[in-house]
Amino acid sequence: KYALGPKISDWDAQRRRWLAQNPGFSATVAGGKPRIMLVTGSQPGPCDNPLGDHYLLKTTKNKIDYCRLHGIEIVHNLAHLDNELAGYWAKLPLLRRLMLSHPEVEWIWWMDSDALFTDMAFELPLSRYDGHNLIIHGYQDLLFEKHSWIALNTGSFLFRNCQWSLDLLDAWAPMGPKGFIRDQAGKVLTANLKGRPAFEADDQSALIYLLLSQKDKWMDKVFIENSYYLHGFWAGLVDKYEEMMENHHPGLGDERWPFVTHFVGCKPCGSYGDYPVERCLRSMERAFNFADNQVLRLYGFSHKGLESPKIKRTRDQTTRPINDVENLDMKAKISTIS
Ligand code: UDP
Ligand code: MN
Repeated sequence: KYALGPKISDWDAQRRRWLAQNPGFSATVAGGKPRIMLVTGSQPGPCDNPLGDHYLLKTTKNKIDYCRLHGIEIVHNLAHLDNELAGYWAKLPLLRRLMLSHPEVEWIWWMDSDALFTDMAFELPLSRYDGHNLIIHGYQDLLFEKHSWIALNTGSFLFRNCQWSLDLLDAWAPMGPKGFIRDQAGKVLTANLKGRPAFEADDQSALIYLLLSQKDKWMDKVFIENSYYLHGFWAGLVDKYEEMMENHHPGLGDERWPFVTHFVGCKPCGSYGDYPVERCLRSMERAFNFADNQVLRLYGFSHKGLESPKIKRTRDQTTRPINDVENLDMKAKISTIS
């Protein structure tokens, strides 16, 4: 049977020992907050469509901005650590590797390349997750009543760095190896999950299937989040940004000002998506600029419009920049959008 690596069964003890021996690498950061590492990645080679590479750069810049503003470390991976788990399965061996190599990190946060932070002020309510090890966006009823293949979304989720998470990754991975196994597993998933088209096994369906079939084993440590958009489906959001700017402000994270806008089903880099590539690119441009305005604002600029890479000045330059600019903390600055 396929395995991600040699079975580890005492990770919590190993990690605890390492932290005690390396006080210079604390699992908390300034303000006593848990150390978070955001991980994203993209395929090792160039996109079929060169515009896709440009948008990959923009989505990466967007993540760098969010992480810089919130003291989160960021990793961008281009390698396939395990050739069997290429494509959307690549995140599994990567997450395991990073947990083991970074015992100082408390939370590992996977985010798809095609997901953007659209609320630069919102912060994860981590204290809510004290008793939980996997935080994922979704809906309890879609999962356990409907068995829907979109009950959870694996485009943005967090794992606590602990034994439980390694065990879950081990239980999640076996449907992943490409070729015969992945193809056969796809048939099982389509037969069992509502709404799932016929295709090879994907990581999201496999996780849903695992949690459905072993509910008692895993669910008390899984937090299904939907009080804000840890993942937000782009199609219902991108045309409402102007309305949001009119009526609301960053920091809310929900439908009033979505934390994350995720371009599920858009494949601007490769060949076959579920939506026309022009619509995807225009919508990504809007999401990027909507978010970028919240960053540029700190420096006195904004985009001329959500579909324009061009920017304009929004405040006068002065000779006393420290006194004249409100010296608030970043979060307050981003939230008080003008
Ligand atoms: N990915 C990766 N390496 C690859 C292919 C994909 O790291 O070789 C990542 C990338 O971040 C991508 C994610 O896997 O966003 C999941 O794929 P995608 O977003 O296309 O799936 P969707 O969200 O549309 O279901
Ligand atoms: Mn995605």
